[in-house]
Formats: sequence, C-alpha cells, structure tokens
Amino acid sequence: MGLVVQKFGGTSVATAERIKAAARKAIRALQAGNQVLVVVSARGDTTDDLIEMAREITDNPPAREMDMLLSTGEQISIALLAMAIQSMGAMAISYTGAQVGIVTDSSHTKARIRSIHSAKMRQSLDEGKIVIVAGFQGTDDEGNITTLGRGGSDTTAVALAAVLKQEGGPDKGVQCEIYTDVDGIYTTDPRLVPEARKMEAISYDEMLELASVGAGVMHSRSIEFAKKFDVPLMVRSSFSDAEGTWIIPEQSWMTQNPVCGAAIIKDEARIAVEDVPDTPGISHRIFTAIAAQAIVVDMIAQNPSTKGRASIGFTVPAGDLKKTLALLDPIAREMGARVEHDGQVSKVSLVGAGMRVHTGVAERMFAALSREKINLRMITTGDIKISVLVDKQDGLRALRLVHHAFDLDKRAVTVPPKIIPDQNPNPLSCEKKATLLTQRLANMEGIMVSDIEHQTDQGRVAIYGLPDAPGFCSQVFEAVAAAGIVVDMIVQNHSRGFADLSFSVPLSELERAKSVTNSLMAKIAPDCRVESENGLATIHVIGVGMRSHTGVASAVFGALARNSINILMINNSEIRLSVVVDRAKVQEAGRCLREEFGLVSPA
Ligand code: ASP
Ligand code: MG
Repeated sequence: MGLVVQKFGGTSVATAERIKAAARKAIRALQAGNQVLVVVSARGDTTDDLIEMAREITDNPPAREMDMLLSTGEQISIALLAMAIQSMGAMAISYTGAQVGIVTDSSHTKARIRSIHSAKMRQSLDEGKIVIVAGFQGTDDEGNITTLGRGGSDTTAVALAAVLKQEGGPDKGVQCEIYTDVDGIYTTDPRLVPEARKMEAISYDEMLELASVGAGVMHSRSIEFAKKFDVPLMVRSSFSDAEGTWIIPEQSWMTQNPVCGAAIIKDEARIAVEDVPDTPGISHRIFTAIAAQAIVVDMIAQNPSTKGRASIGFTVPAGDLKKTLALLDPIAREMGARVEHDGQVSKVSLVGAGMRVHTGVAERMFAALSREKINLRMITTGDIKISVLVDKQDGLRALRLVHHAFDLDKRAVTVPPKIIPDQNPNPLSCEKKATLLTQRLANMEGIMVSDIEHQTDQGRVAIYGLPDAPGFCSQVFEAVAAAGIVVDMIVQNHSRGFADLSFSVPLSELERAKSVTNSLMAKIAPDCRVESENGLATIHVIGVGMRSHTGVASAVFGALARNSINILMINNSEIRLSVVVDRAKVQEAGRCLREEFGLVSPA
C-alpha cells in the first residue's frame, strides 16, 4: 500500500463543484489501494478577502490576531471537503493544523515548522479514512495559531508527506500531488511566451533555482522540504486527469540538454556600492544590514578590486529599493563608498542541471542577446543557472530570445523514461539516511548546509573598463569557447559607466585564456585592461534555501570576517553560495565555515 498526499490549491476548491471534483480524486486514490491524506488551501480569494477585512478595521493588525483570522479560510475548506467525501460514501475526517500536531515557531504570519506529531493522522489513515488537513497553519508551543506565509499550503502538504514517509510509511512509498490551475511546470511562463512547453520531469535543484528566478508555480519552501526529505512531487491540473510534471531527484537523462527552463523577474533594482575598501568584513557589513530587514538579495557580483578598492553590485526586488538605499547610506558614508542604483531592470535566467556537463551555455545565451542588441547590465552564474540583468524594456524580448536559442520550444530530443518515483530511490545508504533524517526532522526548517567544498585548480581572468554596450561579453566568450577553454564562474559588474567582467577557467588554461582575451581586446576595445590571477581558490557552500534564507549569506560572510579572510568574488544561488578567496587561506576558510554550520571535517 502507498500513501498519496494530495494538495488542492485555492482555485481547486473555489466552488462546490470543484470541491466535489477534488473529493472524487481523493476517493479514486483510496480505491486504488492507497492511504490518502489531503491538504487544502482557503477557497478562491478567501485569504485576500480576510486580509482586506482586517485592513478595514486597522492599518496595523496585530500578527497574532491576523493568524487567528487567516487560518479560518482553510478551516472552511477542510469541513466542506470532508462533507463532500462522506456524502459520496467514503470515510473522511478533517483536522486543523493544531489538531494534527503541526508545531511551529512563534513568528506569526511567517512561521516555520518545528515538528509534526503524526500519531493522530496515522491512526485515522489506518482506520481507512481520508484524512483532510488544513494547509498553511500550525500552532506554537503556547498553543497560539500561526500561519506559514502566503502560499504555505504547499509546504504543509510536503511536510506531512515527509514526516509520514520518514517515520516509516506504507511499504510502497509516499508521493505528493499538487493540484493547481496549471497542468505542470513549463519551460517558461506560457502567458509570456506562448511556445513554452510542459516538462515531464524536473529535478529538485532545477525547480528550486527556477522558482528563485521567477517561475512561481510552487512555494519554494515546499520544494526544499521535498528535496531534504526525498518526497517525489507531481504538479498537475485539478481540472483534468492528465499527468503533470514530476519534481524528483536528478536523473541522468536530465543533463542531456544543457538547459531545462527560462524565467524572468521583471521588476528588479540594481545597486552598486562603489569604491569600498577591499578588506575583510565589508560584504558582511553590507549584507547583514540588508538581511536584518529581511530583504532578499538576489544577484551578487563582486569583481576583483583595483587599487585596494572594490565594487559590489547586487540586485533586490524593485519594491525594496528605497528601503535598501536608506539603510546603505550611512554605511557607505562611513566606508567612503558611493552608492549607485538603477530601478528599471529585469533579470532573465536560464536553469539546467545539464550546465554541469555542457560547455558554451553562457556563450550561446550572450550571443542570442547580442544579435538583438540587448545590453547586459550584470551577469552572474551558478552551478546550474545563468542570470543576466537587462533594461526593463528589453526583458520580455530577452526571455523569448533565450528560450528560442536553447530550443526550449521544441520537444526535447531525449524523451525521459516513464517516471515511477518509488523506483528512483535516493542512493544514500539506509543507515546514513536514517541518522541524517532524524537530525533534520528535529528541526524541520532549519537552514540546511550540507557540504563545504573547495576548488583550487582555477584561475581568473578579469577585464576592466569594458564598454557598457551590447555584444562585448558575447565576443569574449565566443573567443574563449573557440579556443576550447571551459569557463566556470562568470561575474559581470558595472561601475562608473563601464562593465567589469571576470571569469574563472582551469588553472592550466589560464595563460591561454588571458592571451585570447588580450588579442580580442586589442581589436574591439583597446582601452581595456586585462589581468589574470592564479593565486585564488573558490569555496562552495552547498545546501538548500541558500538565498531565500537571508541568514545564510550573513553567516558565511560573518565567519570569514571573524577569521580575517578577505572575500574576493561572490556568487550566489538557491543551492550554492560561492566565494573566492586567497588560495593560501582556503583551508582555514573551509574549517571556519564547517564549524559555523556544524559540519564534520572530512577525514
Ligand atoms: N491560503 C493561503 C494563501 O492564499 C495559503 C495557500 O493558499 O497556500 O496564501
Ligand atoms: Mg491561496
């Protein structure tokens, strides 16, 4: 027997008809021989309406009372769904978050799950009942009702699936189906690019990265849970029986194409802190101040410094620009730095596990954009992601161009095998997995840094003063690729009307990369200065939620600052935060970061 967790979003329970349709889906899963647990959201716009009601009373509703109010939305849905199922002749019972033992911290309206007591759910499931749980809510140690943040029902569903699976679920495994108003995950938003295609499957990492760069189908935290606890998910339509998109551990076929999807965040703002002293602790000061306001820093690009002064560029959501500038102002003044900003930019990103094995992805992306004269304001790369910042007016055009450039509109060349999640178990040994999981369940949403790795076999080429106009980056990577040199990390920042570009290559190729770049620059931009650097190392901090848990970056920068280790380049993504440091400091940096995150040193 298997356990199926089904989650129905707000649109899927908006009308009586839809509630009945959801009831039929649950009953069908039960009749197929599964235990069935259903998590529901508030109906339609209920949550928004409740927020509006509070606003009619006061501009500043106390968070505890807000949670008391908001949690009622889901309570309506569970009762109605239980009635629907019972009226169709099956057994069902509804529970609120508190009744079913979902314990959270006390941060009202954005609580994090601490633990889940599963005994009650277990008992009802074993009695053959369909168990219906209110999404989005829990209770703190004092018994106050809490909510998990907008969209939090996804997180409830995956968390329940995770706990039931890890505590020893039914022998046929657990799967979680997310029913929603779209029929799966697309290569990009089909409302923006009509030729977008539905994917059969995507890996957790790809989905995390795509979600972080604007593909907002699911609550990111729910995907973190699924990855941490190894729960296979399927996103599918509540209006049909068609298979949706599986979100599962990475499979080998997934890397056959370099890119799986593209996304855009239309409203970003770019901030450059110029002329900061290049000494340990500076990034820490800046990003700690921003994290303290719970502002999520998005792209971070710090390029090599000139004459002891560095420039740090990053983006924040356009809505947070004012707040960010205000808090930077005193810090910048004190450091003798200048702050520049641009509030009219969009970020276009490509994601794909295949980037780990394919070369030339960046070059292909930049070439497509440069052919259409789109200027790249900033570039950052992650392990499976490349993002470029463009002028807002070019954003949508840029998204379509890159989607097309990687043939995302065409059917994938490699057709994935039929996915049967239970036959794709995680390769970890059972014993190791069991200990890991008990640790994680004890603090379900704790920041999870799983590994610190370093790389010492890389060198870096830096180009200073590249004209800030379309096509220059593209030509650089075309030349480097033509020489057969593999590029890893790329950072382009912007300062004083010029673009500073740097990229890392294998140490053995450094001299060649430099000379290729030099001869190209002599032709296209003779005023540029090209430098290479061979005494560096990169430390990768690997985990999940590395970007959206604003504390991770500060913890990394703080640990390095306390040990007087200077950060020379930074690169962040949802699953990896990379910092470049002096090679002589790499062991020490690894040690202090391992200590910071409580990881044991490798033998
Ligand atoms: N009802 C809550 C919201 O709209 C939770 C959810 O739908 O997932 O944010
Ligand atoms: Mg909702």
